[in-house]
Amino acid sequence: MYRKFRSPTSLIRASMSLQNFKSELVKRRALLIVPFAFAGLVAVSSKSAPRDKSQEDPNQEIEIVEFDDRGRRIGLKRVHKVAKSDAEWKQQLSAQQFYVTRRGSTDSAFTGTYYEFHGAGLYRCVCCGTALFSSDTKFDSGTGWPSFRAPIAQENVREIKDMSMFMERVEVVCKRCTAHLGHVFEDGPAPTNLRYCMNESALRFALFPGLEQ
Ligand SMILES: [Zn+2]
Repeated sequence: MYRKFRSPTSLIRASMSLQNFKSELVKRRALLIVPFAFAGLVAVSSKSAPRDKSQEDPNQEIEIVEFDDRGRRIGLKRVHKVAKSDAEWKQQLSAQQFYVTRRGSTDSAFTGTYYEFHGAGLYRCVCCGTALFSSDTKFDSGTGWPSFRAPIAQENVREIKDMSMFMERVEVVCKRCTAHLGHVFEDGPAPTNLRYCMNESALRFALFPGLEQ
């Protein structure tokens, strides 16, 4: 049988349990908030840290391999690095190209046309024109991003350990202008077993001459 009135002791107990309940509620709210805070952190971290290109020495010389428009190797060439201010890049690039190449952003999967395009031609850096990939090594990865088994020349790209997104990945950048291109994963097809997962916004494709339609 329930008592109609509570004794002062039971009121104190009730008050204490209310305090406990409130403090429990605060804890639960904190637990609820944590995953969202974590997700926010992931969203922020999914972009590679912006690199200040104005700090790069444009007079620095590097070696890259030159290719003609038919994708034929011309040979090693010493060139100056390309360094421009954000304002200069914004004049040259679309907003999406700027955020991908200069801020490390990522194109949404299955956007653009390159991921499902397999015409014969050369993919150059959208920022500096360095030859990066050939259609010869392109394959359909099913990921929604243009994918290649290998760069056209290892000398033309730089691979950097990327610890963002709480995982270890390998970022691929253009050696001449340090544009963010994408990432390379070790789950590609033979013979390299590599998958260069690239952003269309970082690439400029041209059909091999004579194959234009
Ligand atoms: Zn470049």
